[in-house]
Amino acid sequence: MRIGHGYDAHRLVPGRKLILGGVEIPFELGLLGHSDADALAHAAADALFGAAGLSDIGAHFPDTDPAYEGADSMLMLKNAAAEVAALGFRIENVDCTLVADRPKLQAYLPQMRENLASALGVAPEQVNVKATTEEGLGLAGAGIGAHCVALLRAEP
Ligand code: MG
Repeated sequence: MRIGHGYDAHRLVPGRKLILGGVEIPFELGLLGHSDADALAHAAADALFGAAGLSDIGAHFPDTDPAYEGADSMLMLKNAAAEVAALGFRIENVDCTLVADRPKLQAYLPQMRENLASALGVAPEQVNVKATTEEGLGLAGAGIGAHCVALLRAEP
């Protein structure tokens, strides 16, 4: 068994879409980034890379590479899952926590779970997505953060 952790955060700004776990959430602000800035997909990919000992998402999908400008981060996550699978790892489960004071994310969590499971090639029951606030104490008013842990099992 191998465990990995991923963390990501992006700033909320006007004029950008808000996309988390491949779900476009209606809100007057969106996340700023080179790709579509899907912090949840990025944190999940980093958890997989971390568990497999494959460095991090920046090493695999550089944010200086024009190929990833505006990129669909769920495709990056799918590629990350393919990379760990190629090394003989199977995903046991992935657990994620979004950190956002705004907007309210609860209604979108089931679809994020479905999307993550689909990108990872696992059942929805192997994925958990939850959301919390920081009650004005941290970054979550200015942006959105995501933590994920992944457990991988080495194939016999
Ligand atoms: Mg990111």
